[in-house]
Amino acid sequence: MERSRVPAGQRPQPPEGTPIDPTQFAKDMTTQFRQRLSTRRMNQLSSLAQARTSSPARPLVGAPQSPSVTDAPPSYSSLRNIPLVPQAPHPSDLRSLRFRNQLHMLSETPTNWENPGLLDDALRAVPTERIYAAAEEQSQVYKAQAESLGKAPKWTYADCVIRALMTWFHDSFFEWVNNPPCSRCYAPTVGLGRTPPLPEEQARSAGMVELYQCSNAQCQGLERFPRYKDAFVLLEERKGRCGEWVNCFGMLCRAIGARVRWIWNPEDYVWLEVWSEYQQRWVHCDVTENTWDQPLMYTEGWKKKMSYIIAFSSEGAYDVTRRYVRDQKYANPRNKCPESVLLHILAEIRAKRRARMTKEEKFRLQGEDMREERALCACTIQAIISGINNLSIDSLLSGAHTTPRSDIDAQKAAERAAENAQSQRVHRSGESRHGSPRNQQNPQDPPR
Ligand SMILES: [Zn+2]
Repeated sequence: MERSRVPAGQRPQPPEGTPIDPTQFAKDMTTQFRQRLSTRRMNQLSSLAQARTSSPARPLVGAPQSPSVTDAPPSYSSLRNIPLVPQAPHPSDLRSLRFRNQLHMLSETPTNWENPGLLDDALRAVPTERIYAAAEEQSQVYKAQAESLGKAPKWTYADCVIRALMTWFHDSFFEWVNNPPCSRCYAPTVGLGRTPPLPEEQARSAGMVELYQCSNAQCQGLERFPRYKDAFVLLEERKGRCGEWVNCFGMLCRAIGARVRWIWNPEDYVWLEVWSEYQQRWVHCDVTENTWDQPLMYTEGWKKKMSYIIAFSSEGAYDVTRRYVRDQKYANPRNKCPESVLLHILAEIRAKRRARMTKEEKFRLQGEDMREERALCACTIQAIISGINNLSIDSLLSGAHTTPRSDIDAQKAAERAAENAQSQRVHRSGESRHGSPRNQQNPQDPPR
């Protein structure tokens, strides 16, 4: 028994004088020959692999480490990052560390809404009866439509409440401001740049103030536009740009009892996602455009390129880029940190937000995270299938790509965006909320 455990190649030679078994001898020689051949092949493969790729091949994470001749298996570049494992940024990787700080800071925004006393107060600014009535009416329409088709309604009353709240906020509550008009003579103003906030402005959460001058030669008065960060201050101010709109509306969604996420992207735009209990998913919600469940409006509609799209809430942080960017032609490079480091940072933020939660709550959220991950994977698969469907036989034969037929979602998004652009031109001339205002008089000022 002992003998069989020793590898044949290392088998001790029989003591001198012992008669040699020719069959056994032949067997041993064959085994030794095979081993040498295998070692040589492995060496050749690994030197080939090293020559092909500049980066050293690394074993797949979780793969058993066999005591093979070489530590480096052949490099399969497409599999190099699979599975992706969260990795802390290296102390010398300043770029990743900067992005980490930025994400941690941004993640605080939706936590500022979590103030039960102030949320109750905020609700006083909302004509709740009017909103509930509008929601009831809309949900009855969905119900009737669904009954006539023999299907389940698309949205329920709770979803309609958020939509009615958004329409009220958009149409009659919050004002969009590019250049504030002169408060003395109401003439248009010209941007002069930024100035530090006064103590009272700072006390009300203004980190920065934009300064404008009246264009009327007889007046030339100065106008200050503090950029407030506190959603409860914004409830009194009722004006601003995309950042202020989304911040204040997100807080009101919380006041009305909805679960809400603040969605950030570095290409200077923000929006929200609201949880639909009925559909069991996060729904895109853009209050500055009064649009609901149109996640492709930025790429297919506005032709906007985006890199990272991160959802922050009081319950954590999640990379939701795949929901919004489904075509590579709208993807900006993601170069603020390695993908494995981004996973680590988002896990850090989730752990911080969930630290005080009960075990059950954490478990429920983890389940939700997993379901969302599956949904986002489905977005990618759908995008790939749609890409394949859009390939025509002619383009394949000629090796050229014709303009792909856009899918129904994309068409709808484009139509919706065009409608919105039209309506916006009507009531806010010279104004764009896409992060790149037209006729911008002060290029230094961030549109958010
Ligand atoms: Zn004036």
